[in-house]
Amino acid sequence: MRPALFPTRLADSAWDIPYEELYARGIRGLIFDIDNTLAPHGAPDDGRAEALFSYLRAAGFRTCLLSNNREERVAPFAGRVESAYVCRAGKPAGRGYRQAMEKMGTQTSSTVLIGDQIFTDIYGAGRLGMERILVKPICPREEIQIVLKRIPERLVLWLYRRYSRRAEAGRRGGENRRERRICRGGKK
Ligand SMILES: [Mg+2]
Repeated sequence: MRPALFPTRLADSAWDIPYEELYARGIRGLIFDIDNTLAPHGAPDDGRAEALFSYLRAAGFRTCLLSNNREERVAPFAGRVESAYVCRAGKPAGRGYRQAMEKMGTQTSSTVLIGDQIFTDIYGAGRLGMERILVKPICPREEIQIVLKRIPERLVLWLYRRYSRRAEAGRRGGENRRERRICRGGKK
């Protein structure tokens, strides 16, 4: 099984995710981190998150912002993008993720988390067995406690890439073995 710390997918940003593909697979709820996922840390939306959320609503998704930040930060942002939200979420604890799914009326299997931090956003979703997409942080200038977490994050990312390469090689090996069996007329 995929370790909880590993994302299920990487993306350059929240704007570079194939949402249509998620929808086609039955995903209906999207949980978003805010700081450095949708806007620089503490910054208001510059219009891009508003545009993204209006597109997602039109596409049929329900959304919920999930932030460890305070109400004063989260509520105005949620108002601007017209989304449900959970503030002081205590990520990676499962409580906030469950509240978010309740608000959206979705299950773990029909929800995807999108966030920029491995040890909070990704790990919390991973522990619940939820799909999770790691995006690159928007602003490189971050608070010191986040900067310090980026060092072990790089190690996890390196391990994740190695895991993905091996899984891919294993899959290809399986395909090649199947092809050889077919060539030999189905004999093992
Ligand atoms: Mg963040």
